[in-house]
Amino acid sequence: MRRSDFRAAPGKIVCVGLNYAEHVAEGGRAGPSRPLLFGKFASAVIRDGEPIVRPPGTRALDLEVELGVVIGTRARHVRRADALDHVAGFVVVNDISARDWQGVKQALGEGEVGDGQWLRAKSSDTFLPVGSDFVTPDEVDLRGMHLRSWRIPGGGDGPGEPILMQDGTTADMIWRVDELLEFITAAVTLEPGDIVATGTPSGVGVFRDPPVFLEPGDRVRCEIDAIGVLENPIVDWSPDHA
Ligand code: MG
Repeated sequence: MRRSDFRAAPGKIVCVGLNYAEHVAEGGRAGPSRPLLFGKFASAVIRDGEPIVRPPGTRALDLEVELGVVIGTRARHVRRADALDHVAGFVVVNDISARDWQGVKQALGEGEVGDGQWLRAKSSDTFLPVGSDFVTPDEVDLRGMHLRSWRIPGGGDGPGEPILMQDGTTADMIWRVDELLEFITAAVTLEPGDIVATGTPSGVGVFRDPPVFLEPGDRVRCEIDAIGVLENPIVDWSPDHA
């Protein structure tokens, strides 16, 4: 393992929704018949330790620990068998999501509706913390990685005990990394430094009963055992962030 040496903002961030069977089930949904793709802007990227800023208008921030794939060489119409040749390495990412804007019904009050698409919900500024630890494809077992996330409540006299939220394994992924890269690059060319976020396991806050959302003062910690830890505080937007 080494510290990530990619510093430039990724040109593209392609994300995969509903790619872990238990996460599909916890939302009470049918799994998609092909990978569900969406995007994030480079302006969503922050690094380990930087604050996740809750923008005005949402009260339902949630966490999603994910295996992030960093592209090493241009990938266009790649075959599954060759896909990992285009991967520089793997990082921990957190697909921060505003569940009310996303339209998840458990996050909506009476009469409220979501945005109808996921752009604000998934791609607001600071909504993609990316870890500093980086491993290369030869260093990891892609089907045996253990992903966990914690909410560390703030308030009171300081940080509280970490509360385990997600605890999953890449063995539960519906589409593997090589399959995702084949599917994505049939339509979208990936360039060096681009990131693919491969979906999240079960345990997210919105599907708890009652739902649990991230509040200013909280911290969120994401860990993939084979890669490392990513931790960021939650803050409310203020004019200081202008
Ligand atoms: Mg996600």
